Amino acid sequence: MTMVSKVGQEPGELLAENRPKRPRPAITQDIAFFYEGARKEKLLIQRCSKCSELRHPPLPCCPYCRSLEWDAIESSGRGQVYSFVVNHYPQVAAFDYPLVVALIELSEGTRLVSQLIDVEPHDVFIGMEVEVDFIKCDEDLTLPLFRPVRR
Ligand SMILES: [Zn+2]
Repeated sequence: MTMVSKVGQEPGELLAENRPKRPRPAITQDIAFFYEGARKEKLLIQRCSKCSELRHPPLPCCPYCRSLEWDAIESSGRGQVYSFVVNHYPQVAAFDYPLVVALIELSEGTRLVSQLIDVEPHDVFIGMEVEVDFIKCDEDLTLPLFRPVRR
């Protein structure tokens, strides 16, 4: 990998055109629907067909009633920051730093880990209202990331 720097660039920062692709998520048959939904700009959450409990990350078996039957609902994409970390190191060239990684509690009640975008790390707080946005990272990968709700 060639590191390209320019005046005003942070150490280790890569020019966008030289940036490696974002690491691929591990897409198993259990979670493939989630990423397929993201590609279509839908935030899909697995729901047990027997007891209707939502769960994320997806599992083949309901942890509440042991049913193997499930479908998915489309989330509103609205939620709150339940917890977060601001990652400075180690740096992976595909990301910008500091990187805000948050546990989002969706309005439907389930939580998922995602990245917060369009916010300064020092402005993030527990309970911050956020909404999903679907970011096309490259031609093969669209991810549901979250940004603060603008009023
Ligand atoms: Zn169940």
